[in-house]
Amino acid sequence: MLSELQTACLRSIPSVESILQHEMAKEERFSRLPRWVLVEGIRQVLDLKRKWILSPQTNRQELEEWQISASLILDEVDRYLQKIRQAELGRVINATGIILHTNLGRAVLASEAMEKMTLAARCFTNLEFDLITGTRGKRGEAVTRLLCHLSGAQDALVVNNNAAAVLLVLNTLAEGRQVIVSRGELVEIGGSFRVPEIMKKGGVRLVEVGTTNKTRLDDYRQAITSESAAILKVHPSNFQIVGFSEEANLPELVHLGQEHGLVVIYDLGSGMLADLAPYGLSREPLVSRIVQQGVDIITFSGDKLLGGPQAGIILCRPKYGRLLRQNPLARAVRADKMTLAALEGTLRLYSEPDVFDRIPTLRMITASRQHLEERGRQIMEALTLSSGWSSDTISLEIVEDEAQVGGGSFPQQTIPSLSLAISSTRGEVNQLEERFRLRQPPILGRINQGRFLLSLRTIQDEDIAEIIRAAKEILGQWERSKE
Ligand SMILES: *Cc1c(COP(=O)(O)O)cnc(C)c1O
Repeated sequence: MLSELQTACLRSIPSVESILQHEMAKEERFSRLPRWVLVEGIRQVLDLKRKWILSPQTNRQELEEWQISASLILDEVDRYLQKIRQAELGRVINATGIILHTNLGRAVLASEAMEKMTLAARCFTNLEFDLITGTRGKRGEAVTRLLCHLSGAQDALVVNNNAAAVLLVLNTLAEGRQVIVSRGELVEIGGSFRVPEIMKKGGVRLVEVGTTNKTRLDDYRQAITSESAAILKVHPSNFQIVGFSEEANLPELVHLGQEHGLVVIYDLGSGMLADLAPYGLSREPLVSRIVQQGVDIITFSGDKLLGGPQAGIILCRPKYGRLLRQNPLARAVRADKMTLAALEGTLRLYSEPDVFDRIPTLRMITASRQHLEERGRQIMEALTLSSGWSSDTISLEIVEDEAQVGGGSFPQQTIPSLSLAISSTRGEVNQLEERFRLRQPPILGRINQGRFLLSLRTIQDEDIAEIIRAAKEILGQWERSKE
């Protein structure tokens, strides 16, 4: 039974419409919002008010003193929306079609990697402890061994990320001296990794050779002086494949380095450990092949094609490994125990025959068309069978699309893919995109030619139920609000 007081309080709550008419709702902070976002915000706040009034925990005195007005509500709506804007780190569903999306945290870890990571977080471990001798051991030794085994390198070390790896390598082996780089490779990657800036911070002097689109072996040769310490090659973009002719002249470059006593360094960026050539990523060099060609030092990321945690991996000859470990910078950029654990868990999977299924990044890249079709059908069937909406304002279809492995702003290799396309006879496709983005968990797709696309390649099987739930809700509302 409601008390009279409760009834009176409930009655005093202003209507959504009257709040929208209030002078304060015309302020910039509200007027710039899409109308439905404001309406939804007001509804949520009013709902909380009603719940508070009806709650047995709310006492008489509180109810008597309670005040309400449109402006108080609007202030709360503002705080509520602010909270959404400053959302804490949370799950999002990646239906963008970009597998390694830097803004969404790049690689998703395999469950084996997470198990190892949780263990390292929860328990004491033999991180730097030799169990045989009972004395201090080498940090990251298991990972070093796995990396050497998988790549054929003689030594390996792991730092915080690939940018740190390049910095450490340059600073250790070329501080105060010259490093020769092709003009075509002085790139900016992912918006914040600029080769010339890293070189400057590493204390080395950059010597640019060749032109943007052509650098010959002779260009390198002519730049060598007594001040030269190294030749640096940089993979021009994470996944760019256009005109990848380096494999042919890499041995020549290595030879040139040996002739003149220079260290040859290759920043591979994405480091592919398992061959994706059968899946169409044919011209991305395999790490073990680059090792075979005699490059002195190779660096790449842990959370790109490798599919592990953020880390910078350095493969090198043992004499360079010793120098790198002695540099105080190595301590400043060392990987933490959780990273080492997750990386070990990921690398162990590379010895398994079904590695392409067990590492999510590789699974997304290699998922068959048939699998994507099945996902699409599953979603379509659940939606067209649901009675929440009929199809006179919305149409759904599975369309041909392309997905990307991910990377910077360079031309990228695409993977043939399928997407679920949602279009509305009313247009307003931005609003559709917005509604999927502003729910919990947010579902991120993209707009293309007036349709809203959800990539069936970058979602995971466990996202499907959530996508169906969201689509039923959003498309139902859409249908009801068509007048
Ligand atoms: C991505 C990339 C980097 C930066 O790697 P992080 O792990 O993000 O620090 C450096 N060089 C190349 C060639 C890259 O592709």
